[in-house]
Amino acid sequence: MSTELLIEETVELYKRHLNPTLPNLIRFMGFGTILESGEGAILRDVEGNEWLDFLGGLGVFNVGHRHPRVMAAVRAQLERLPLNVPVFFNRPAAELAAELAAITPGRLQYTFFCTSGTEAVEGALKLARVATGRQEIVSAHRAFHGKTFGSLSASGREIYKEPFQPLLPGFRQVPFGDGDALAEAVSSRTAAVLLEPIQGEGGVILPPDDYLGRAREICDRHGALLILDEVQTGLGRTGRMFAAEHYGVAPDLMCLAKALGGGVMPLGAICGTPEVWEPLGPNPWLHTSTFGSPGGNPLACAAGLAAVRVLQEERLPERAADLGRYLLGQLRAVQAEYPSALREVRGRGLLVGIEFEDEDVAGLTIAGIARRRVIAAYYLSNPRVFRFEPPLVVTRAQIDRAVTAFREALAEALALLAESDAPES
Ligand code: PLP
Repeated sequence: MSTELLIEETVELYKRHLNPTLPNLIRFMGFGTILESGEGAILRDVEGNEWLDFLGGLGVFNVGHRHPRVMAAVRAQLERLPLNVPVFFNRPAAELAAELAAITPGRLQYTFFCTSGTEAVEGALKLARVATGRQEIVSAHRAFHGKTFGSLSASGREIYKEPFQPLLPGFRQVPFGDGDALAEAVSSRTAAVLLEPIQGEGGVILPPDDYLGRAREICDRHGALLILDEVQTGLGRTGRMFAAEHYGVAPDLMCLAKALGGGVMPLGAICGTPEVWEPLGPNPWLHTSTFGSPGGNPLACAAGLAAVRVLQEERLPERAADLGRYLLGQLRAVQAEYPSALREVRGRGLLVGIEFEDEDVAGLTIAGIARRRVIAAYYLSNPRVFRFEPPLVVTRAQIDRAVTAFREALAEALALLAESDAPES
């Protein structure tokens, strides 16, 4: 079959069996092809084109595409035993749980494995309820925690919530970064406060420096738990292994996923303190999942273990901090050239957002950058914020290439809109 036919047939299959409108949206963004292979920050499509990945799978590919050490660990486990029979011990899960206990902040000691970010958040919410005997959850406006019922109830964007009402009772949201609002919302009925240390899908929102510390203090005062959702910010993305480290705060529960599987396997995790884990002592089957804990998925855990070692040994969090500063500097230079189009460039490490004044300009810029074979998109809960979230193994030269493509695509988008706004003569 010719490549052209392969793509056309795939589009038809999508329209008939996956989603009738999605292919047009994908094509409008400029990505209407099929990826075939990847390595580091580079992807290749079936037509032989090379793409520079500045989307990083929305935070999945921290160690890059197909990192050789993760691939080798997965291959070796695949040849032995990909999935466990859950009445036996799972060695990779035990080793990875011990590794997470060693590298996560504070007294997080136990881990429950799952497959996705939203499952990690669901499990953390359940554990918070059972550990405290309370029901209420306080989270933040513009938060994104996933799309199953519990996570969605704690998330912030109405268009994703409204069609599925009623969601779970006992959830309320406060403005992110506002310590006074949080203090007012938390009481002796609060089971947990659930926060992203830096909001990702909300458009890279950095809280005031003392916010998480205040959140910790407020929770302690009322006997509530602090859950940090590091599904996107964790594992080196923001320039530290975990974003909580920037603020010197240790949570009672931490949610991980995305990059945990090393960009090769889907893997999520909930890490918790011994106190939070207490209800699982008398009944280890209180919360379970076939492909998660307690039996688990040796293949995914082998990937996770390799990924954590790569992050440490290649010093990728430090690399993210360093290259993140460079990327922000380069993008701020573009902002200075187009101050009326770009409201703000912000970020931490390689979690970077460019806030546009106008959503249409952002959309056209994404299509323009895609024509230059650089992959970028906007944040799910804030279409005005363009995301640059490359693998942490990206090079300075690749950053320069992406910034040049961004500058050109922005100029083109502005020229196009000026042309269409010009009165006809
Ligand atoms: N939590 C955060 C902070 C996220 O950014 C996401 C996804 O973007 C999730 C949870 C949900 O993860 P998943 O899509 O794997 O369910």
